[in-house]
Amino acid sequence: MTTNTRVIEFNYILHDTLGEMIDQSEAGAPLAFLEGSGQIIPGLESVLLTMAKGDKREVHVKAEDAYGDRDETLVANVPLAELPTDQVKVGDMFRGGPEEEDPVMVVTAVQGDHVTLDANHPLAGKDLVFKVEITEIRTATKDELAHGHAHGAGGHHH
Ligand code: ZN
Repeated sequence: MTTNTRVIEFNYILHDTLGEMIDQSEAGAPLAFLEGSGQIIPGLESVLLTMAKGDKREVHVKAEDAYGDRDETLVANVPLAELPTDQVKVGDMFRGGPEEEDPVMVVTAVQGDHVTLDANHPLAGKDLVFKVEITEIRTATKDELAHGHAHGAGGHHH
């Protein structure tokens, strides 16, 4: 069986719509993703798939095509006593359960003996602006297809 599924490597700088930088790939260390695997947000992937090696572009992604809208049901006001520590400040993060997949909750307020925890993705509800440059496009390996993610530099390490 042959496949045309590709692995795409790219550099990025991520800003919010006010121009404040949120994140960027490290110099000389582009991110790699397997086409169609859901490794990166859909609004960015759909544009990257149309680009060629060496192309540079600014990509505007609406929240709904990025990390989704905020869900206010994921915000909870809990007694401080339920947290693993009583030394809690705004910005602290707790995992919602013992599993790796359990959502990370951020402390957004501390009032008396209660704290507000927000399990939304930090970028939920935000429109995003990516400056991207495609550094490499290659055919995915059998292992990458079997695993559903890119390997090697910028990809998944086992
Ligand atoms: Zn793998």
